[in-house]
Amino acid sequence: MGLQAERLYYTNSYLREFSSVVEECQERDGETWVRLRESAFYPTSGGQPFDTGYLQVSGGRSNDSAGDHGGTARAAQADPDPQAQATPGDGDAMDVINVIAVEVENGHVWHHITTQRPPARQDPVAQVAGLADGHQNLVAGPAAAQAAAQQTQAVEAQTADCPLKVGQAVIGYIDWARRFDFMQQHSGQHILSACFEQMQGANTTSFHMGDTYCSIDLDVVSLSEEKLRDVMWEANRWIWRDVPIRARFVSQAELAQMQLRKAPSVTEDIRIVTIEGLEDNACGGTHPSSSGQVGQILVTKTERMRGGVRVTFACGERALSAGKEAVHLVRHIATDLSVGPADLAGAMESLQNQVKEGNRRYEEMRSRYASLLARDFAANQTKVIHGTHVLVAVLPILDDVQDVKRMALASAEWLSTGHPGAPQLVVFVGESGGRTHVVAQATDGAISSADSVIKAVLPALGGKGGGNATAAQGSAPTSASAVLAAIEAALPS
Ligand SMILES: [Zn+2]
Repeated sequence: MGLQAERLYYTNSYLREFSSVVEECQERDGETWVRLRESAFYPTSGGQPFDTGYLQVSGGRSNDSAGDHGGTARAAQADPDPQAQATPGDGDAMDVINVIAVEVENGHVWHHITTQRPPARQDPVAQVAGLADGHQNLVAGPAAAQAAAQQTQAVEAQTADCPLKVGQAVIGYIDWARRFDFMQQHSGQHILSACFEQMQGANTTSFHMGDTYCSIDLDVVSLSEEKLRDVMWEANRWIWRDVPIRARFVSQAELAQMQLRKAPSVTEDIRIVTIEGLEDNACGGTHPSSSGQVGQILVTKTERMRGGVRVTFACGERALSAGKEAVHLVRHIATDLSVGPADLAGAMESLQNQVKEGNRRYEEMRSRYASLLARDFAANQTKVIHGTHVLVAVLPILDDVQDVKRMALASAEWLSTGHPGAPQLVVFVGESGGRTHVVAQATDGAISSADSVIKAVLPALGGKGGGNATAAQGSAPTSASAVLAAIEAALPS
């Protein structure tokens, strides 16, 4: 079977329920992977993440002919509502198998399956099968308990081998909310990239599409707010125009006639996605049938990245949620500041000025307080030992390690003012974060130099420090009282 026939999403991106046949089962590192005759599950490729969903054994119709899927397939052509989920029918609960990842290997689509429920998912199958937490309550009567017991046994039995058999007929169900969201993000990216290129000459060098955010990288060094706004508006106008989006496979001859935004990365099975009037682009992804279904495009962030600009954006419901969150946040902050949203910028500026002024006043008061405290220490705790004015003091409250140094310098200055020319030794001690910090200041002719105080005390307490004869500092992993006692013991009496 050819690539196009095997991958049903190529011809109908709205196909979310299909019938198929198991072609191959493989165990890989304890994981079970199956290949189907045909599949509407999108495998991770071209930047678009894989689909998830379910497989259900469809009652042994293994002689279905290829192409028969049209009979039971259910599409969502005119129904972009992600809540309109495809759900498995009333089958045997044991037949429902989760598809938790889909990848391409050697050109074929492989489905990672499990009979375990994926964690923390709103799971329509669980309600049919009665497997949710507190499961018995979801299906009435003894049949529920029996179904749950059977399921438990089934999970245990299936850890060793594949729950599906080759040749078995299955129905596949795509998690439509997830798929439609990716279709919106993906097509929004096409539109946004085309507008950036056409309006700003900015080429998209890479893009990321994930569960939480989408972004494109542009080959421009900067992007002004004004240019960004112009591009975002034009991209949204393309959505409002609701132009058709078509996908088709083309021959090399047809390809030669086309002007593509980006050269295709493959040489066979080249699929061109056309957004009518905007662009032709080689792409194997899934897209809605018209641009209007993208909903809206909202750029949420721009940043410089590797010599270019990264543009983070959201489309469809994601854009609506991001916009709603932003509006809520603005209203919340405006209410807190007692202004209307329109006056928020002015209110923030005034608040910032108040904070700045408050900080300036606080620093001023703090400096005055420190000066008074230093004078108090100098006046009341200084002793004269062999002609040197000696001040050894502990700072009771330490906001900042630098406070020890500031107080030592300020106290030394007060001492010099009160006793000009007299030799002095000032040592300040302060405890912070389990360490005691020591700063020593000494003048010529004092009974001890600053560095000899530090050397005499700190190494013996497991600490270290250094400096010169007039200024030295260090710290030790012990209490202020232990350091104080050591200093007093080291000084001559
Ligand atoms: Zn695409």
